[in-house]
Amino acid sequence: MDTLTWMDIALQKAEESLKAGEVPVGCLFIYCNEIIATGSNTVNETCNATRHAEINCIDQVLKFSSEKSLDYETVFCNLDVIVTVEPCIMCMSALLQLQVRSIVYGCANDRFGGCVSVLEIPKFYDSKVTIHGNVKGEEAMRLLQNFYKGVNPNAPEPKIKKERGTKETSSTETK
Ligand SMILES: [Zn+2]
Repeated sequence: MDTLTWMDIALQKAEESLKAGEVPVGCLFIYCNEIIATGSNTVNETCNATRHAEINCIDQVLKFSSEKSLDYETVFCNLDVIVTVEPCIMCMSALLQLQVRSIVYGCANDRFGGCVSVLEIPKFYDSKVTIHGNVKGEEAMRLLQNFYKGVNPNAPEPKIKKERGTKETSSTETK
């Protein structure tokens, strides 16, 4: 399968998580041309802010590796990540520490993005990862917009969204 097909599957995962009341992000981990992990955000379900789609996939790879008696470090080094939204700083750091081979993402993450949008995490690692963004980005963005238009019982009050700005404008904002 090709990258666009993988991304379609990731977008389906994101759509499912939208229906489940989560921030719609879908993620696949591909190893030897096979999906070995699929994930979406489960932050609201678990009340755990770290349960991003990528982190859920990382846990599945550890389980997969142990079940198949594979060295997880080798698996991660040969892993391609397909995710509908640019990974956040936390997930990017985790993926680079695990030395995944490539990351393909859909839309940019202006609030938390760890590839380029907020912080360029690859600069902090001796990383050979290849990163491609804006693969079916409009579709990923549309899902996010649908989510933020709707009602998320666990979302902070809207003033947070109003106050968010770019990192350069922090002088006019309170921390
Ligand atoms: Zn994340």
